[in-house]
Amino acid sequence: MNLSQKDQLYNWHPYTQHQTTGLLPAIVKGEGVYLWDENGKEYIDAISSWWVNPFGHSNPIIAQAIYKQLTTLEHVLFGGFTNKPAVELAEKLLSILPSNQKKLFYSDNGSTAVEIALKAALQYFYNKGEKRTKIIAFENGFHGDTFGAMAASGITFFTEAFQGSLLEVVRIPVPTAENDSLNLLENLLQSNDFAAFIFEPLVQGAAGMVMYAPQELDRLISLCKKNKVFTIADEIMTGFGKTGKTFACDYLNEQPDMICLSKALTGGTIPMAVTSFSQEIFDGFLSNDVNKALFHGHTFTGNPTGCAAALAAIELLFTEEMQHNIKRVAQQQYQFKNRLEQHPTVEHIRTLGIILAFEIKRETSESYYGDFRNKLYAFFIENGIILRPVGNTIYILPPYVTTNEQLEIIYKTIEKALEIV
Ligand SMILES: *Cc1c(COP(=O)(O)O)cnc(C)c1O
Repeated sequence: MNLSQKDQLYNWHPYTQHQTTGLLPAIVKGEGVYLWDENGKEYIDAISSWWVNPFGHSNPIIAQAIYKQLTTLEHVLFGGFTNKPAVELAEKLLSILPSNQKKLFYSDNGSTAVEIALKAALQYFYNKGEKRTKIIAFENGFHGDTFGAMAASGITFFTEAFQGSLLEVVRIPVPTAENDSLNLLENLLQSNDFAAFIFEPLVQGAAGMVMYAPQELDRLISLCKKNKVFTIADEIMTGFGKTGKTFACDYLNEQPDMICLSKALTGGTIPMAVTSFSQEIFDGFLSNDVNKALFHGHTFTGNPTGCAAALAAIELLFTEEMQHNIKRVAQQQYQFKNRLEQHPTVEHIRTLGIILAFEIKRETSESYYGDFRNKLYAFFIENGIILRPVGNTIYILPPYVTTNEQLEIIYKTIEKALEIV
């Protein structure tokens, strides 16, 4: 048996209906934008392995940093102790995050980063004896798959089976020309039930790279501030350069109270996440009463190896070469947008930073993991390009190190797909 066959015997994959899914390629090596499977087939990773890998696979600089840390101090508990990489990473992150961010809480993945933000918002008001138990979120948002994060998420078929067991979340649409989200939010805020408003700033990733304007988000945040409702920017997808700025929040005038980071935090190497907080939130947990502390933690919180990987990744991000790569890829994507404008079967072409997305025109609406999407996905895999269309939406989120020639291969393959659908 080869790896793919053994995998089918033993493994359960995410978002996968195993009855109708065949053997999955077994990736055995990665370098830069390339991945190779056990049969030697080559793939270009045009979505940075679910948006985590901006610097390319098997990056030697991050690998070195991890090795050095593993042979110095691989892990120590963060309850009752601290460690050098965790301190240095906190100092570094707080120097690049919006200036109101003052404290970091480490965890293991995007969903936990969101759980921590939601719990902090809810307990902040509980500690003050104020009853604010509901959350506001965008329609079609995605914040993760654990219970709190799932409640905040608005892609309904992800969460349908669990309705009735979830936190109470009220949704508003993202602000576009058709949606007066500000007015809807204003109506909601007539009641004092809400602890926080959580959102993916400027780009809703899992919804299919839905984009909206920073000025509109500024207005929503500002209204929340007036009503003492905390704002949580989920930058798990957008963080670390993808929008063309370090964080999507860098496009805003307002500063959110909390920020969630993960995915590219360690350059796609070690699972790790951070939730950052304003001083006001942190201070809401200070008391002589131990019960007012945030009773949340994970076994691997503050893991030195993950922190060392993140430090190396952030250093890489700010090299002149990588900053230039971000601008270059963004420019190429913008030019491809112009090329796609000429295409009769394509609509809603949009870019922000290195992200490009568009819809293929269809008579009827296509479901998230439906047949049309599966056909497109299979076509790209067959042609050695990893793209994961969402319904009839195709998006490219390439590693920053993708060369113009490699981008052109992705573009040509997409154009070929458009000819045959
Ligand atoms: C991926 C993602 C999450 C969840 O992160 P996991 O590590 O998969 O738990 C949350 N929010 C956003 C915006 C994401 O893109």
